[in-house]
Formats: sequence, structure tokens, C-alpha cells
Amino acid sequence: MIKIRIAVCIKQVPGTTGIKIDPETNTLVRHGIENIINPFDSYALEEGVSLKERLMQDGFSGEIEVVALTMGPPQAEQVLKEAISTGIDRAILLSDRAFAGADTWATALTLSRAIQKLEDCRLVIFGKQTLDGDTGQVGPEFAQQMNIPFTGYVSSVQEISKNRIKVKRLMEDRYEIIELKLPAAISVNKDINTPRVPSLRGKLKAKNTAVPVWGIGELGAGEDEVGLSGSYTRVVKIFTPRTEHEVQMIEGTPGEQAEKLYGKLKNLNIVGGGR
Ligand SMILES: Cc1cc2nc3c(=O)[nH]c(=O)nc-3n(C[C@H](O)[C@H](O)[C@H](O)COP(=O)(O)OP(=O)(O)OC[C@H]3O[C@@H](n4cnc5c(N)ncnc54)[C@H](O)[C@@H]3O)c2cc1C
Repeated sequence: MIKIRIAVCIKQVPGTTGIKIDPETNTLVRHGIENIINPFDSYALEEGVSLKERLMQDGFSGEIEVVALTMGPPQAEQVLKEAISTGIDRAILLSDRAFAGADTWATALTLSRAIQKLEDCRLVIFGKQTLDGDTGQVGPEFAQQMNIPFTGYVSSVQEISKNRIKVKRLMEDRYEIIELKLPAAISVNKDINTPRVPSLRGKLKAKNTAVPVWGIGELGAGEDEVGLSGSYTRVVKIFTPRTEHEVQMIEGTPGEQAEKLYGKLKNLNIVGGGR
């Protein structure tokens, strides 16, 4: 029987845009911060599930499976459970001490080994970028390692069959229609769909579905290919820009205050000279 497997790569990120850096350790402050599915990845998940539905409606007679993967610590299982509750067929957690400290290349390599192990993956869907790392590099690097075509900023999938996909991608000032030969990888924008809300049935399935964990042994990767050892880049320092605030109290009547304030703003070249 013909089989199509669609994989969706998702990342667990801190559920805040106000990410704080510990100045001592140069790492993210994760304490007291709830973790969520990276927002762009919710759109990737929805696209995976709706493409399966579309292929089935179009009369595809084979087996279609949508699989979610994440590389992360054991607690990243939570986002995979959420993925199952929104209609994903199965989920795999890539977790191993050896994966720690991975840069984007080593992350992409770990994902590519997992996709090779899964077999029959015709399409791999990524989010456009993450809320924390924010590089947008993992999808293109993954495609490079797999030697398959990639296109990013996908706003809609216009056609899909077993061998081809036609997508509309959003550029700064135009749309492009791109056709890719499958297997291929894409990354998606937020305008591609509206992610569905988990159903009660989905939540029950998630609760009762075990998430297998694949480590370095299962992936057949070398210690020097993954994690910090497999990383070509290293963050040597992370810091938030220092901002300084100065408060000056302006005394006097409202008229005097306005006059003094005008003078100060003029000295700072914030207002013009003519009155
Ligand atoms: C130079 C550099 C050095 C780094 N060094 C370290 C380090 O020493 N220690 C450390 O903990 N982190 C490190 N990181 C962070 C870590 O590499 C990234 O969090 C990770 O590689 C993903 O990159 P990103 O968040 O920019 O993802 P993006 O490229 O912005 O993500 C795009 C898409 O890729 C997919 N994706 C991304 N990450 C994953 C994942 N883990 N699992 C599944 N899918 C995923 C998602 O679909 C996501 O929407 C480093 C990052 C950089 C740029």
C-alpha cells in the first residue's frame, strides 16, 4: 500500500516574549515560566493535520500518517501531548544528555536522523521561527542535510499529491508560487491557517498515548555530531542591552514648567527652534 508520512517539527519555548537572561550563567531564566508550543509551530501542526484531511477527501487510497517531533528535555513531552490532542497521529520525543547545548546545525542534524529513521516522510513542516532562538535556520539546515528541496514563508498549500506540492509564499512585496518535488521541507507563516482547538476526544487520546523517546542510540548518530560537540557555533555571551533612565523634576507654575520643558527638549534637538 502507498504510504505518505508528514512530519511536523515543533519546539517547546518559554511562554513569554519578555525572556530574561541570567547575567551570571548567560542562560535563559526558565524558573516560574510556563512552557508552550512555539506559536509558529501550532500553524505547522494544523497544516499537517489539514493536509492529511485534504488528501483523504481527494480520494488518496493509501495510508497517511502525521507525526510530530521535538528535540528537547524530558518535559518537552508536554507539547507533544498537546500536538496529539489537536489531531496528530503520533509523536516522538528526541531526548538525550548528548543532545544538550546543540546549535541550530546540531538540532537540524538530530531531526534529520529521526526523519530518516521514520522512513517514507514525503513532507516535513517547520514553523517560520521560534520565540526564543529566533534564527529561522533549523528548517533550511535540515533540508540541506537531507539533500531535499526547501521553501520558507509558506502562506498556503495550493496543491499536494504524492510526488509534488505547490505552495504560495509571502515575500516582502509579492507572493511567489513555488512547486517542489517531494520529499521536501517547508516552513510556514501564521497566515496559513487557523489552528484548531483540541477536542475532548483528542485530549483523551493524548492522555492515553505513550510518547516514545529516541536518544542517540536509536538515531544511530555519533557523539561528535550532536549537542555541543556537533555544534559549529557557540553563544559566548548573552546580555540584555543596558538602558539608563534619568528623571528630572521641573518646578514652577504650569507656564514656567512648559517653558523649561520646551528649553530642555530644544537642547536635546527633540523640538525645533522656531516659535
Ligand atoms: C549560535 C548559537 C549557539 C547556540 N548554542 C546553544 C547552547 O550552547 N545551548 C543551548 O541550549 N542552546 C543553544 N542554542 C539554541 C539552540 O540551538 C536553538 O534553540 C535550536 O537550535 C533551535 O534554533 P531556533 O530556536 O533559532 O529555531 P528556528 O530555526 O528559529 O526554528 C525554526 C523551526 O524549526 C523547528 N525547530 C526548532 N528547534 C526545534 C527543536 N528543538 N525540535 C524540533 N523542532 C525544532 C520548529 O519548527 C521551528 O519553528 C544556540 C543557538 C545559536 C544560534
